[in-house]
Amino acid sequence: MPPNIAIFAVIFVASVALFGWSCFRRFRLVTLGKADNRFSNIGKRIGNMLYQAFAQRCTVSHGYRFGLNHLVLFWCFMILLIETTEFLFNGVFPDHIDLSLLPAGLYHALSFIFDWVSLFALLAVCAAVIRRLAFPPSYIVARSLEAFVILGVIAILMITFFGMNASEIAQGGVEAARYMPISSLVASIFFMDVSAGSLVGYANFFWWIQAIAMLSLLNYLPYSDHMHVLTAIPNCFFKSLTKVNTQSREEFKESNIFGVGRVDQFTWKDLFDSYSCSECGRCTDCCPANFTSKPLNPQRVIHDIKVNLLKNGPLMLRNKDPILPLISDGQEQDGSISEEVIWECTTCGACMEVCPLAIEHVPKIVDMRRHLVEMKAEFPEELLAFFENMEQRSNPWGIAPGERIKWATDIDAKPFEAGTTEYLFYVGCAGAFDARNRRTTLAVAKILDAAGISWGILGKDEMCCGDSLRRLGNEFVFDRIARENIKMFAERGVKKIITQCPHCYSTLKNDYLQYGAELEVSHHTELINNLLKEGKLELNRTNDLGKAVFHDSCYLGRYNNIYEAPRKVFASATGQIPTEMERHHDKSFCCGAGGGRMWMEEAIGKHINVARVEEALNEDLETICVCCPYCMTMFEDGLKDKDAVDRVQVLDLAEIVARALKKD
Ligand code: SF4
Ligand code: SF4
Repeated sequence: MPPNIAIFAVIFVASVALFGWSCFRRFRLVTLGKADNRFSNIGKRIGNMLYQAFAQRCTVSHGYRFGLNHLVLFWCFMILLIETTEFLFNGVFPDHIDLSLLPAGLYHALSFIFDWVSLFALLAVCAAVIRRLAFPPSYIVARSLEAFVILGVIAILMITFFGMNASEIAQGGVEAARYMPISSLVASIFFMDVSAGSLVGYANFFWWIQAIAMLSLLNYLPYSDHMHVLTAIPNCFFKSLTKVNTQSREEFKESNIFGVGRVDQFTWKDLFDSYSCSECGRCTDCCPANFTSKPLNPQRVIHDIKVNLLKNGPLMLRNKDPILPLISDGQEQDGSISEEVIWECTTCGACMEVCPLAIEHVPKIVDMRRHLVEMKAEFPEELLAFFENMEQRSNPWGIAPGERIKWATDIDAKPFEAGTTEYLFYVGCAGAFDARNRRTTLAVAKILDAAGISWGILGKDEMCCGDSLRRLGNEFVFDRIARENIKMFAERGVKKIITQCPHCYSTLKNDYLQYGAELEVSHHTELINNLLKEGKLELNRTNDLGKAVFHDSCYLGRYNNIYEAPRKVFASATGQIPTEMERHHDKSFCCGAGGGRMWMEEAIGKHINVARVEEALNEDLETICVCCPYCMTMFEDGLKDKDAVDRVQVLDLAEIVARALKKD
């Protein structure tokens, strides 16, 4: 019981009011963002929240040794929230709110739980401090003064909990004392020979320290880097219900603003994401651009959005112009994101996969690219030719459409005709024009024929799917190409598509769905796996590959969850399970070509493809198996860089299967 109820009541009410006002000021800024419906399907959202936030899925997985400690701290925090609420309200209404007023069984159980949980929390805080001092994580905020202050305050809360309970137990008035082993132990160690008057003084002292620490922490949180304590759980509730494997459509009206060049042009969810980031640095740890010493740091991008909002938001609420640019054209400054950073992203999705708080980095980066491309016509010089080629000839190289059919010179590739051919084999630009990838195309065609699949092509009428355009922020041209493709598919009666390129696959399947195109799209790895299961394809298990590693393409794996089909096909064709590189499945490391980076120079740091090739070479291998034309190019280039072309080959899975086909 507090020594002076009236004084505490005033402090309590003032603190709660101040906290409410701080939250209001913070969350009012989020309303500056554009609309985004994140309230649909409440049941699923609650499920996501329980799984993501309460079970701490990402925190304990992904190989983070100290994730378990965070899980312990989180749950201690949740449980002690009940104790804290009781403590504070007991201070104002001591006769009406008190655990001891509960039925005895419940009172004893809660006393027991709070006692142990407080000890676990104290130990978890100690582990967190030791971790930060002895095994410092890569992110700077982990060792910031603020991080230690917050851990220190939590430790004070636990110590005062034991101090207060122990001095009350020593006075002999706590009915649940025998259910509070830790507090009783503290009492027996520290308060055995203390006079009754002093025990009252100690109890009051610990009570007030605890109350002040609690209310101070409460009011500090909205202004600290630990604001995520307040927003993380709701952010998991607002998480996208589907995998974030596409970007939103834009509406092309003259008066519209395209992309995001000011912080209030993000959606409210984007802004809420920025509040929710715990700055744990997991996204940065797995970012291929960051790993190869480029200035892109996904955690920093999210942090800068928050800083920009906090700085410009209050002005924008008063209809004043922002003073801090969201996108800076060069120099790094807190709250601004440089253009260089925006162009470094390969959209590999590793950051989103690993984020414990379901923060969506890639759409934000693409939105800023859209602003640069569509509003300011500012983009890396080498993209000029790419954009022109795409606009004029619908392929990245600007090659005449008539050349699209050249790969099929020696085979009988029929044109797609609804009713006659079942599948459209959508070859894709790389599969049609790139000499190396044409070999994959031929292998796919051979497999389809061997399985008796009825397939046809669009030939010179096939256009690029527009993947790179969209990821590079040229939504205007992507939109035109997507609509033209969809119109052609509808006119020609295309319903089922086979593709060998994960980028075409994801674009036709996920991006075109936004235009109402419900196509049955199969990547060749999926299709071959199904054909094998159905017995339509028989393979000789001859293995002339030597030791082989498998590389997961980001747009097949992380974007579309296709991990096992290619591995099963590989095993069926070779009789061996592919060796995994250090980073594989959802932790796979990008080849460096996604997000339109295929068409750009890599001027800073190590080349991403070289870093990936080095990782593969660590396995002492002879073959790298890929399932994507971009990966094929990047690995072959990387092997050249490492002088390893003579000893290591890169093969598409389709080529491996084609070699293993049973001859009649
Ligand atoms: S964005 Fe997610 S993964 Fe990255 S630092 Fe923030 S919480 Fe951690
Ligand atoms: S998508 Fe990939 S490259 Fe882009 S920020 Fe995320 S991890 Fe880095």
